[in-house]
Amino acid sequence: MSMNRREFLKGAAVGGATAVAAAGASSEAQAITLMREPKERPEGALGLLYDSTLCVGCKACVARCKEVNHMPVEIYPDQSEWNSGTWDTAKDLSGKTLNVIKAYMNGTIAEKDRETDGFAFIKRQCLHCVDPSCVSACPVSAMIKDPETGIVSHDPDRCIGCRYCVYACPFGVPKYDFEGAFGQIHKCQLCNHRLPEGKMPGCVDACPTGATLFGRVEDLNKEARQRLSLKAGDAYTYPRGDISGAIERPRSPHEKVISAEYQQEVYGYDGPLGGTQALYLSAVSFNKLGLPHGTDNFGRKIPDHAYARETEGVQHFLYTGMIAPAAVLTALVLMAYRNSEKHTSEAEED
Ligand code: SF4
Ligand code: SF4
Ligand code: SF4
Repeated sequence: MSMNRREFLKGAAVGGATAVAAAGASSEAQAITLMREPKERPEGALGLLYDSTLCVGCKACVARCKEVNHMPVEIYPDQSEWNSGTWDTAKDLSGKTLNVIKAYMNGTIAEKDRETDGFAFIKRQCLHCVDPSCVSACPVSAMIKDPETGIVSHDPDRCIGCRYCVYACPFGVPKYDFEGAFGQIHKCQLCNHRLPEGKMPGCVDACPTGATLFGRVEDLNKEARQRLSLKAGDAYTYPRGDISGAIERPRSPHEKVISAEYQQEVYGYDGPLGGTQALYLSAVSFNKLGLPHGTDNFGRKIPDHAYARETEGVQHFLYTGMIAPAAVLTALVLMAYRNSEKHTSEAEED
């Protein structure tokens, strides 16, 4: 019997397809039945609460994040003529920027926290997902979720630079630094190097308005839910700093009159995508701020559960009882058998 490379690969592909078909994993309903159990937020989970209505866009959090994480300033080529390195002008997350403030703008941009003819700020950094897809996708466990704090960190010593985490993250967070001599993944680690020193994350420490708070996720959620009932014109006393006193004593609060009403949701607490430990409040729709919400760009519903539940569930099903390898082997044996029969009949004709 002879089998060339092309026939072998074709056979393997047929086997793989057979395995997938056997698993019946193509339909959404079947994928859902194959989903593994959801992961829970640890009891002592730590996180952030960002309230877009309190953010004044000062970017003190961006500067402090760079400082405490020893990240370089970022100046884009189109800015180099007027910015010779005087200040950081990061526009988005990158291999040099772990935390960024972006702006939503519409029409005349006349009023803050208004969707039409208005604007709003949004802070982007790792959301420290409850069930992180980056952790699930990493083949060498270089992305790690701490079982007690729930902080998702990256271990550069284990990382092989495959960038699966970059593609798996539904929030577009991990970035690969192509410029460094040795490329590396970068993302916010909730300043977990500062916490043992009794210091809160840099972005929270620098925030003058309390737009970014730190604390236990349960406390942050409770604080956020109180704000949902506020109406325009109400005065509210906003806390600042570490509201749980988990790492540092809370800072002095400040009073502010509410000018825009909140979207009735604490983004990240219950979902989407399995929930996060960075929570968000906003007066403008979350999807307008660039956070996955409702439907994606193709009109598909963004699920409440983490994508990792589907992918790991299907993989587990295929490899339980070695279904996929067995299907590939069966396909190869059948192909070999067919080839040997053909070879024998050709020999008889000769
Ligand atoms: S936001 Fe992205 S990088 Fe951060 S934990 Fe979630 S999946 Fe991982
Ligand atoms: S927690 Fe630390 S690393 Fe993360 S955004 Fe804030 S300052 Fe940056
Ligand atoms: S420091 Fe606070 S107010 Fe200033 S941009 Fe950052 S989150 Fe907004």
